[in-house]
Parts: sequence; structure tokens; C-alpha cells
Amino acid sequence: MEGALTARDRVGIQDFVLLDTHTSENAFLDNLKKRFNEDLIYTYIGTLLVSVNPYKQLDIYSKKQMDIYMGVNFFELPPHIYALADNAYHTMLAEANNHFILISGESGAGKTEASKKILQYYAVSCPSVSPMDRVRDRMLLSNPVLEAFGNAKTLKNDNSSRFGKYMDIQFDIQGEAVGGHILSYLLEKSRVVHQNQGERNFHIFYQLVEGGEEDLLRQLGLESNSQHYSYLVKGQCANMTSVNDQNDWRTVRNALSSIEFDNGDIQDLFGVIASVLHLGNVQFESDNKGNAKLNNSAELRWVSTVTCSYVLLSNIFTIQVLSPFTVDYATYARDALAKAIYGRAFTWLVNKINESMENKVTLGDCVAHYFIGLLDIYGFEVFYVNSFEQFCINYCNEKLQQLFIQLTLKSEQEEYEAEGIGWEPVQFFNNKIICDLVEEKHRGIISLLDEECLRPGEATDLTFLERLEEKMGSHPHFVTHKLADKTTRKTLERGDFRLLHYAGEVTYCVVGFLDKNNDLLYRNIKDVMRESKNAIVRESRRPSTAIFNNLRVLLPACFMCTHTPGRFDDSLVLHQVKYLGLTEHLRVRRAGFAYRRRYEVFLQRYKPLCPATWPHWKGLPADGVEVLVRHLGYQPDEYKMGRTKIFIRHPRTLFATEDAFEICK
Ligand code: ADP
Ligand code: MG
Repeated sequence: MEGALTARDRVGIQDFVLLDTHTSENAFLDNLKKRFNEDLIYTYIGTLLVSVNPYKQLDIYSKKQMDIYMGVNFFELPPHIYALADNAYHTMLAEANNHFILISGESGAGKTEASKKILQYYAVSCPSVSPMDRVRDRMLLSNPVLEAFGNAKTLKNDNSSRFGKYMDIQFDIQGEAVGGHILSYLLEKSRVVHQNQGERNFHIFYQLVEGGEEDLLRQLGLESNSQHYSYLVKGQCANMTSVNDQNDWRTVRNALSSIEFDNGDIQDLFGVIASVLHLGNVQFESDNKGNAKLNNSAELRWVSTVTCSYVLLSNIFTIQVLSPFTVDYATYARDALAKAIYGRAFTWLVNKINESMENKVTLGDCVAHYFIGLLDIYGFEVFYVNSFEQFCINYCNEKLQQLFIQLTLKSEQEEYEAEGIGWEPVQFFNNKIICDLVEEKHRGIISLLDEECLRPGEATDLTFLERLEEKMGSHPHFVTHKLADKTTRKTLERGDFRLLHYAGEVTYCVVGFLDKNNDLLYRNIKDVMRESKNAIVRESRRPSTAIFNNLRVLLPACFMCTHTPGRFDDSLVLHQVKYLGLTEHLRVRRAGFAYRRRYEVFLQRYKPLCPATWPHWKGLPADGVEVLVRHLGYQPDEYKMGRTKIFIRHPRTLFATEDAFEICK
């Protein structure tokens, strides 16, 4: 009827695969927008979940909602992060394999919130026998602790994760959560000593200073005022209204006790945090020969209570192998020590949390059989000035994007070919060229940087830039002031290089690259740490970074930002639709098959549904499957027979079969 809007016009379509014929970016955007305006933030592209951050609380994460999604087939209910979590869980059990949920999107898009929601879903919905509650509680409690030490306010996100986190949740054969393990990587240590305007240091510092009990602060020699600490005020926004540091302190403190940190641990931990704050207030002045001289010994005495003797400590800042330091050098050494100490505290914390979530039960059925892995990384970052940290973060995202392409667009299409299924290839942008530019042995940016770091005294950030210019020359994804054409040159400073990432251009300033890459502490600082009275500072275990081993099944989820609460910003969302490659995904999904299974496995599971295959099929499994699906009434365009697997176009076809199977069981 004229003027009347159908529900579909109003709320859009919940799976892009069902969107009429066109797959243009605008049609895509239009559908997202319709849904967003109705507070429907989730949309599928087949089994890929797309989410747009609403920046406001929606009533869709209650226990009641969780119950609704539990054990229900993926496409029977409106799209939801719980459906994704539930699907991973039930498929893991039914098919006996591990799953992996990859969360991508730029900073502030809602990735960390989503990973918390997935964890909560498992904590509430998996079956449980009492001793295992311990593991679940700890998995949940580890979150506020890690966030306190690893998150900070940035310009993009008041609670931005400043480390990458991979977590696996281990399940036993019954599907009970029996253990968990966290891998952290790339903690942004530079934030400990410096924050850009409008940003803060890691939350824990403010929580301790603003919320710490009087006794504790006295013991640690701290003032109850963040303004007092030089490391806390670099961004000039120590106190912010959207965060309640006092409340958060109590949450973190309680969580620490609940996950078996004993008093000794806690004392050590906050001793370290306090010593970083004291260290930041250590000042140097120049004596009449231009050498650094301590002018604030009280603060250093506090540091020495957790590290080593006062004399040793003051020497490392002012004397380098018998020749004195300038004030700049002394300050630099001080900051290096602060970052190193904090980095160790973080590693120690993650190890402790892992110990507490370890699957300690090795009797009976409680052994970990499967896992669901959850990867939540920083997200792509572009600031006004981008340094080594952004370079690492963006490279990490670039790799993730490569993995994503590899596991979805590329291998999906390769599989159709290998299985001999007629397939019209969908073109997509492969970011391998940028990954190679950064990581290739002997020629990539990282290799060149490492080489420059091996020429101490000769190499500088600028010689590094020259080396890049020599080697990269006319690489289509690399440009500098010198290499650029006239118009581009105007947008580049002499000390910059620009990379064309999959997500857009980023200009990096080379200042600090060598030092930060080195991260090699002055030898005497290392000695000081080794001698330390504090176990946390003494230890230096490095976490392994073999994150992507054992990857089998992947469920991608793409997150997008809107920035202003409740307002859908077309151009911003469109940019993300583009760089996440969502329309290419749509084309592959639409032409492709949602589901595939090896003939043997398919036959084994569903053979009771057909008299000709039950109880035994004597011929080839493929023939048995053909007989079986014909008996079930599959239409010819609904499935394809590959070399080793059956491919099924729509999930609902399989769900109907699965339902029939449940009834006949
Ligand atoms: P990212 O990890 O992608 O950088 P976060 O998960 O930290 O982003 O989200 C940034 C902010 O956006 C959160 O602090 C929260 O205020 C808001 N947010 C994220 N996801 C949701 C959601 N599903 N509903 C409401 N607000 C959200
Ligand atoms: Mg995050």
C-alpha cells in the first residue's frame, strides 16, 4: 500500500545475504543505518557478525536474553553476539573441534566489550559442576584486573585496551568450562612515562592514588592526589568525569583477593606501581660541568625500598661506565627503568592470572578437550602524530586482516576450486603486499630497523629513514618526503614515512624508532633489576606469541564505530565497510555455501534418517550422502557434491535436517 512501510523497509534485513540483488556499498550502508536507527546494532553476513557501536546502553544483554539464545540455531533469532558465542560452543561440541572468534575493527568500535559479553555468556550458559565455578569466576574477575593495568583513556576511547589479548576458554567433553589461558602482547609501555594531550596513563595508577586506603598509601609513601605525580599529568586530564577511580579501585582490589593473590603478592605489586610513580618524580639538574645531579633524593629512597640500594640506583642515572650523564640522558635512563618495571609487573600479573585459571583437575572427564579462542586486539590507530607504538599496533592489525582474508575469502574460494565446485572467483584486495613491506626478511621495515639497531653510535632515526628510502624506492605502499611527488610532498615532514595500510594511509614520525625498538635496557639498569628485592621486578619471563597455532574454525565478527552516541555517521561507517572488505565477503557468502561437511562425517551423523543408509551403507560415502539428502527432499540447487564434502547453501536446510535428527534420536 502506498505510504505504508513494511517491517522490512523500516528495520532492514538481518542477514545481508538476503538483501535483494545488489551488493553495492550504499545498499549495505543503507541497511546498516535502518537497523541502527531502530537500535538493532547487529547484522549478519552469513555467519559473519557485523556490529555498529551504539555508545548507549541497550537492554539486550540480560540473563533473559542469554536464555533465549541458548542452544537455538544461529539464524532462527535476530543477530546477536550471544548467537555467535552459542554457535561456536555448540558446533565445538557437535563436531568435536576448536573454534576461534576473531574480533576486528578500529579503536573504540566495541571489540573489548564484545569479548567480555562472550565470556559472560559462557560463564552463565555452560553447564557446571561446582568445583569448576572457580575457573569461571576467575575468568570473569580477571577482566577488571587486566583492564586496570592494561587500559587507559585515549582520545578515541575512555577505556582503550593498550595491549593485545588472546584468551582461550577450555572445555571438557561435556562442555563445561574447565580452564582458561591469556596471552598478552605489545603492551604500550611508553604510556607509563608519557601521555599525549587529553590521554591518561594506565588506570591502575589513578585508582591506587585516588582510591587506595590511607594505610596503604602511607606504607607506599604516596600522596592521595594524582596531580602530585609527574607521570600522571602529561596529558592534563588526570581527573575525568566518566571514570570513577575510587569505585574501580575497590573492584580491582576485591578481584585480586578473589583470584588468590595473597597479601605478599599484593604488597609486591603495589610496591612496584608506587615505585614507578616515585621514579617519575625523581628530577635531575645540571651541575656546573653540565653533568646530571640528583635534586630530589626522597623520591629515589622510596624507589630503592622496592628495587635495590640507593647508591646503586642513583649511580645508574648519573654515571655510565665511569663517565657522567647529562640531564637528558639521566631522564631517559629513569624513564627506561620505569617502563621496564611496569612491563614486568604486567607480565607477572598475566602469569598469576593464568595460574589461577589453570585447569588443575586431571581426573575423569574434567580434562580440557576443546577450546574457544577469543582474539581482541587494539584496533587500527591513526593519530595526529603516529610513532613506533602505532606502527606496531597497525602492523598487528594488518596481520590480523591477512589472517582474516586467508581464512575467509581466500581459503573459502580455494576450497570450492579444490572440491571441483563451479565457482566464479570474487576479487578482493589482498594485503599481503603491505605485510611483506613491513616484515619481509632482509628487506622489510622491521629487518632494516633491526639492522640499524646493530650499529650503535652510528645509526640514528634519520639514517634508518635513509635506509628505508634506499630499499623501498618506488614501493606503491611506501612514501617519504624525498620520494613523494610535488603535491604529496607538501603533506609530509622530512622525518616522516607514510604507509598505505589496508585501512588507510598513516604517516609515521621516525623519531624514537631506534630506541623503542631496541628496548634494550642499559646494562646497568638490567643489573639493578636482577638484584631487586621485589620478586616481580626480578623476574623476566616473556610470554610466547604463538597465537595462531591450532586454528581450525573461525567465526569472524567485525565492529564499527560511530563516535557520537546514537548518531550514524555515513562517511565514517562507509569507510569501515570498505576497509573491512564487507561487500566482498557478501559476494563470496552469497554465491557460496554456508555449510560443508565431509561425506563420512555427514553420513555417520544423519544415516538414521533414511532406511537405505541405516544402519549401514555399503557403498561409497558420497553415494550414501546423495541417497540420504534426496530422501530428505533437498532441492538440486540447495547443495553441491564436491570431491570429499557435501556443500549446503543455506543453513536452514541443515537446521531442518538437524531438527529431524534430534526427533529421531
Ligand atoms: P574497542 O575495544 O574496540 O577499542 P571498546 O569495546 O572499549 O572498544 O568500546 C568503547 C566504548 O564503546 C565502551 O567503553 C562503551 O562505552 C561503548 N560500547 C562498546 N560496545 C557497546 C555496546 N554493545 N553497547 C553499548 N555501548 C558499547
Ligand atoms: Mg579494546
